[in-house]
This record gives sequence, structure tokens and C-alpha cells, in this order.
Amino acid sequence: MTTRAPISPDTALVRGHEIPLGLYIAGRWVPNTATFPVYNPSTEECVAEVADGTPEDARDALDAAAAAQHEWRRWSPRRRADLFHTAHRLLIERADAFADVMTSESGKPRAEALAEFGLSAAFWLWYAEQIAHLHGTFAQGSPGGYRIITAHEPVGPSLLITPWNFPMLMSARKAGAALGAGCTVVMKSAQETPLTAALFVKTLHDAGFPPGVVNLIHTKSSASVSDALMADFRLRKISFTGSTGVGATLLAKAAPNIVNTSMELGGDGPFVVLDDADVDLAVEQAVVCKFRNAGQACVAANRIILHSAVAEEFTAKFLDRVNGLRVGDGFDPRVDVGPMINARQRERVADLLDAFVSDGAELLTGGRPIEGDGHFFQPTVLRMKDHDTSLCNEEMFAPVAALYTVNSVAEAVEFANDTTYGLAAYVFSADLSRAVAVAERLEFGMVGVNRGIMADPAASFGGTKASGIGREGGHDGIHEFLEPKYIALTIDEDGALSS
Ligand code: NAD
Repeated sequence: MTTRAPISPDTALVRGHEIPLGLYIAGRWVPNTATFPVYNPSTEECVAEVADGTPEDARDALDAAAAAQHEWRRWSPRRRADLFHTAHRLLIERADAFADVMTSESGKPRAEALAEFGLSAAFWLWYAEQIAHLHGTFAQGSPGGYRIITAHEPVGPSLLITPWNFPMLMSARKAGAALGAGCTVVMKSAQETPLTAALFVKTLHDAGFPPGVVNLIHTKSSASVSDALMADFRLRKISFTGSTGVGATLLAKAAPNIVNTSMELGGDGPFVVLDDADVDLAVEQAVVCKFRNAGQACVAANRIILHSAVAEEFTAKFLDRVNGLRVGDGFDPRVDVGPMINARQRERVADLLDAFVSDGAELLTGGRPIEGDGHFFQPTVLRMKDHDTSLCNEEMFAPVAALYTVNSVAEAVEFANDTTYGLAAYVFSADLSRAVAVAERLEFGMVGVNRGIMADPAASFGGTKASGIGREGGHDGIHEFLEPKYIALTIDEDGALSS
């Protein structure tokens, strides 16, 4: 293992909570001479400087994960589940710390951070409960004479790469499944939000996870760190959440060593409101679905598709709600919408809006960055021109709602499906059989019926087409980190019973 000159201090106080700044390798916090800053997007102030991991650090982490793998997979399910429950209790005790740290580095309103924490802890608990319930099968061989035993074994050391938009949820959802399945992990935090990941890993350390089972790398050089890991045959799994472009690159990098992959990628959530919908409900759900996390969600309503019979009423009521949203620092309890994550994302959206408007879209409210400190953007509503497909394959990822009008259910379904993405879609109708018929025709991994929020530990979360491969949560999530093992067992039934 490499030695480094220590830096001081090795922890930062973030709103009174002590957060380690180093990398976590083989059960120790390892400082590094090189660091990078983490900024609060509401104030643009530096929250802390974290260690900047190198490919060499990543290999150290994989050494540790590979060394711990054999022992970790041999832990009995009950022992592993007990450790998960200890970690769950510690997580719950630290709810306020997680919310404070998330709001500090991602800018999201603290109430949203607390809700994200609650869902993350629920995912962790779900996996804790699954560990002791993983069963194989026992069957007769097709021609008789032998038996088929199928066990489920951990796939092996796993790389978990997470994005900045839900730093706690993504970490807990992936690590819970991987560790629960008996895999050791190297977690790679997002550059913008490493402190939440550090607090999460600190909590697992404090709960008693053995050295090497969990490792954490922060880095400014994501590609070279993941390249070093992907080139090492001991790495057997990558679970990635992020953009479709990076996911495609990682799939190509997984090919030479045939690394098992799970990909949670981008989305283009069409939000369809049919002519018989409860418009007030649709408006409320659209506001949450679009403006939660300042629109920076893979499942956000990217295209709001309104039947012409309700378009006018929906638009008026939606505008009224959007104009009432308060933008500001997430620590202010009156705030509904926080900042965008950085200046680059804000500029991207401003440029995108300019292009839409010059192409014929009508700006109904908002439309501009907010002057002053922080990467704030006005909550914005656009009425797109007929059959405009420019947002079909582009994630807005901002507090900007795009409204479209269609004249029939068939047209709504056809337009909703006109995308390479396939993550989340939404349909609103008072007639449930109609809503389900539409949901069945939407080519997406998840469909919310009369709901704008769907995440649940007991549900399989994930997308089709360019939105990814695999699922997190539900009964499927843990199996992403397990491989079936078939053992053929000869049984001489006649011989056994003859004496
Ligand atoms: P991103 O793809 O830029 O980054 C995601 C992670 O990958 C980060 O940790 C980043 O450091 C790392 N990364 C970037 N380039 C890399 C490379 N070449 N090699 C290895 N790692 C690399 O995405 P983002 O901007 O952080 O997150 C937003 C995206 O994530 C959106 O597209 C959103 O839809 C998607 N997302 C999907 C889900 C889902 O569950 N499907 C959930 C949240 C976010």
C-alpha cells in the first residue's frame, strides 16, 4: 500500500458535523497531499477540501476489496443482516447530519435532503431484511438421475459510481444491494458531493464493517480512476448511475474483462395529462415531479404533455403554482427550490432556453438566471410549439417545465414514446382502466399513474433503452450483485433404496 504525507486537518466541521476528508481504504481514512474543493452552490463558498484520489489509490482500494472478498462472502446471512441493522440505527441517529451535509454541498432544500435521507435509510433497511431471505432452488434433472441445485453467489468486488443529484440515495441504494449480496465495494463519489458519501462510509465504519469491505475514493479524475479499476480483472462488477454518455463509455470499458454491469442512466420523463384527469392533482404532482431538486432528477417531468381539453386549465393553475415557488438557500425553511449544481449547468440551461425561444417556444414565466451569489435559476414555464421534438432526447435537468398540447390519447402516447430514453413516465386520468391501458403502451421502465413520485425500496427502479440496464431495489436489486451457481448432483435413487 502506498504511503503519503499526512495533511492536516483530516476532518472538517460541516455545520457542526465532523466529516472525514480522506479516502477510505482498508478500514482507514487515508489523507492525500492533493485535494480539491467542494462548494456550496447556494453561496459559492468552499465547504471543505477533500483528498483527490489517483489511479494508484483506486488500485489500493481494489487490493483491499479483493483481499476482504472471500471472508465477507462467508459471513452468515444473519450476521451480515445484524451488522446492517446496527448501521441502520446509526444512520437514523445521524439524520440531521446527513441533511445538513447534503444541503451544504448540493444546495437542495433541507426538507428535501431529509426526505432523501429517509428514503435512503428505507432502502438500507429493505436490503437488511432481504439478506436472510435469499434462497436458491432444488430441482430434479430433466432426464432424472440427478438434481439441480441453484445457489446465488456474490459476483465479487464491485465499483459503485454515483452522481451528485441524490448523493445519499444513490450511495445507500447501491452499497446496500452490493454489501447485502456479499460483495465488497469500492465507492466512487461524485466530485460535487463527496462529503455525503464520506459521512455514509464513516457510519458504516462506526457500525463495524470490517476493513476492506467498504472503500471510498474521491477524485477529480473520474475517468482515469475508473479506467484503472476496469482494467483489473479482479473487479467483477460496475454499478453506475449517471448520464447516458458516460454510461455508454463505461459499458465499452467493461467489455474487455467481461465486467458485469448495471446502468442507471438518463431519462426524459413524459408527463401525460389526459382529458378526464383531475387537473388539480395533476398540477400538484407536476410541480413536485418537475421542481424537486431544482429539476435535477433523472425521473423529472421533462415533457408535460397535455390533452387539449385540459391544456388551458392546467396551464393557468400550473403557472399560478410555479409563480409562487420561492427560490433560495436550502437552509432557509421557506425555500421551495434550491440552486443548480454549478455555473456550467446553469449556462447550459440558459443557452438551451434561448434556442427554444428563438425556435418558436413561448416563455410563460421565468427564463433567466438569478443575479447574485449562487447558481439560482428562475422557475420557468415554456409552451413549446406543436410537434417540437427538440426535448425528446435532451434532459432539461433544470427548474424549467416544457408544456405541449396534443389532441388525442393516441397522439399523447406516440409523442411520449418518441424518445431514445425509457426511464420514468407519468399518466393522469380519472379512469383507471384507461390509465393502465396507456401505462402499458408507454415504453418506459416505470410509469406513475396519478402520481409524480415513485421511488420505493420495495419497487424495482430502472429504465429501458438508453436509460439503462438493470434495476435497483425491489426483489431484483440485490440480484444485480449475485450470480446463479448451478451444482449438478448425481442421485442413484434405485440404488439408494435397494438395501
Ligand atoms: P455524470 O455522468 O456526469 O457523472 C456521474 C458519475 O460518473 C460521477 O461520479 C462522475 O464523477 C462520474 N464520471 C464522469 N465521467 C466519467 C468517466 N469518463 N468515467 C468514469 N466515471 C465518470 O452524471 P451527473 O451529471 O453526475 O448526474 C446526472 C445524470 O445522472 C443525469 O443524466 C441523470 O439523469 C442521471 N441519473 C440517473 C439516475 C437513475 O437512477 N437512472 C439517477 C440519478 C441521476
